[in-house]
Amino acid sequence: MSTKNSAPIRTAIVIGGGISGPVTAAALHRAGIEARVYEAYPGPAYGIGSNLALAPNGMAALEIVGAADAVRAMATPLSHQRMSVGKKSFDLPGLVDVEPLRLVDRPDLHQVLHDAAVAAGVTFEYNKRLVSVEENSDSVTAVFADGSTATADVLIGADGIRSTVRSLVDPAAPGPTFLRLLGFGAYTECSLDLPPGTMVFAFGKAAYYLYWSMPDGRIAWGANLPSEQYLSLTEARAVPAQEWLRTLRDTFADDEPGRELANNTTAEELQVVGALHIMPPVPHWYRGRMVLTGDAVHAPSNTSGQGASMAIESAIELARCLRDIPDPATAFAAYEALRRPRVEAVAARVARMNNTKAAGPIARKAMGLMMPLMFKAMKPEKMFGHEQRFRIDFDAEVRPAGVNV
Ligand SMILES: Cc1cc2nc3c(=O)[nH]c(=O)nc-3n(C[C@H](O)[C@H](O)[C@H](O)COP(=O)(O)OP(=O)(O)OC[C@H]3O[C@@H](n4cnc5c(N)ncnc54)[C@H](O)[C@@H]3O)c2cc1C
Repeated sequence: MSTKNSAPIRTAIVIGGGISGPVTAAALHRAGIEARVYEAYPGPAYGIGSNLALAPNGMAALEIVGAADAVRAMATPLSHQRMSVGKKSFDLPGLVDVEPLRLVDRPDLHQVLHDAAVAAGVTFEYNKRLVSVEENSDSVTAVFADGSTATADVLIGADGIRSTVRSLVDPAAPGPTFLRLLGFGAYTECSLDLPPGTMVFAFGKAAYYLYWSMPDGRIAWGANLPSEQYLSLTEARAVPAQEWLRTLRDTFADDEPGRELANNTTAEELQVVGALHIMPPVPHWYRGRMVLTGDAVHAPSNTSGQGASMAIESAIELARCLRDIPDPATAFAAYEALRRPRVEAVAARVARMNNTKAAGPIARKAMGLMMPLMFKAMKPEKMFGHEQRFRIDFDAEVRPAGVNV
C-alpha cells in the first residue's frame, strides 16, 4: 500500500533554484509535499548560461512535471550526430525510434521550469544563501546569510556543483574536479554546408568543439579551450570577450570549419561559461534530514549530453521516495539505491570519452584511422539504450531499498 495520502513528510526546503530545484519542488507538490525553493541569486537568473542538451529520457522525465511541451516548443531538435577528426568525418550510429536530442538555452529552460513549478504551487525566495543548518529530531532549520531561517521536515540540496549542502552532509566530501577546460558558446551567422538536425563533434588540432545549425539558419557552436588555469564563471566573464575571441581564433586557426566559426563570432555573441567540471563519486548522498540532488551529487561533465537529464530524473525519483516512505533516512536510502548505479554508469562512459578530447596529434591521427572500424562495430542499443530509453513511472510505489515484494 502506498502512503501517498498520509505522508508523514509534509514539508521540504529546496536549496537552489537552478534546474534541479524547480523540478524537485514541482514533483514534491505533485507528491503532496509542500516545497519552498530558496535561491542565493537576487532573482531568477534567466540570462545566465549557454546551451544544455536534453536526452529522450530527460524529456520523458519533464512530462511528469508538465514542462516537456514548453521545452520542445523552444528547443532545437538534433537527430543526427557526426564526428570529425581533421578533414575526415563520420556519421555516428544512434538509436532508432527515440525522440531527438533537444538543445536548449539554459536561461530558457530555467524559465520554463521556474514557471512550471510556480504553476504547481511552489514558492520561490531569492537572496537566500544557505550558510548552515540546525538539526532537530523531527525537523531541520536552514540558516541563510541574511540571518533569516526556514524550518521543514527535510532539506534538499539542489545547490549545484559547488554545493553548500554537500559539505553540511559531509565536511570531508570531495569537491568537483576541474577538467582543465574552459567552456564557450555562441550563435553566429556563418554559411556551412550542414544538414538540418545534425550535430558535429569536432576534434580540432588544438581543441575540441561542436556545432549544429539552428532553425533560423544561424550556426550554434561550443568550444572547450584547454586551460591549466581555473576560472570560475565570474572570473572568466571578467576577461573582455574580445580577448577570448582572439584566443579562440588562434586556437582554431588551422581547423575547418573551426576557423570560420571563430572568425564570424562577435564579442556580443560570445557566451563565456568558465571552468568545466566533473563530480567524482560522492560517498554520502544524505545525512539526518538532509539529502543531495542534481549537480550537487552527480555532475557527469558537459560532454555527457546527460547532465541536465540526470538531474531532472533524480529530482523526480527523490519526490517519489519521499512520498512513499515516511522515514527520511529510509526514503533517502531508497533514492540513492535507485539513482547511484545509473548516474555512475553515465559518469564512467563520459570519463572514457573525455580522454579522447585531450588526444595529441598522434592519437588524433590514430583516431581518424580507427574511427570507421570503431563505428561499424559500435552497438548503439548496448551503449545508449539503457540511458535513453529509461522511463520513470511516477505513480509506481517505491519500497525501501532491499525490499522487493
Ligand atoms: C549560472 C549557471 C550557468 C550555467 N551554464 C551552463 C551552460 O552554459 N551549459 C551547461 O551545460 N551547464 C550550465 N550550468 C550547469 C547546469 O545548469 C547544471 O549542470 C544542470 O542542469 C543541473 O542543475 P542543478 O540545478 O543541479 O545545478 P545549477 O544549475 O548549478 O543550479 C544550482 C543553483 O543553486 C544556487 N545556489 C548555490 N549555492 C547556494 C546556496 N548556498 N544557497 C542558495 N542557493 C544556492 C545557485 O545560484 C544555482 O541557481 C550552469 C549553471 C549555473 C548555476
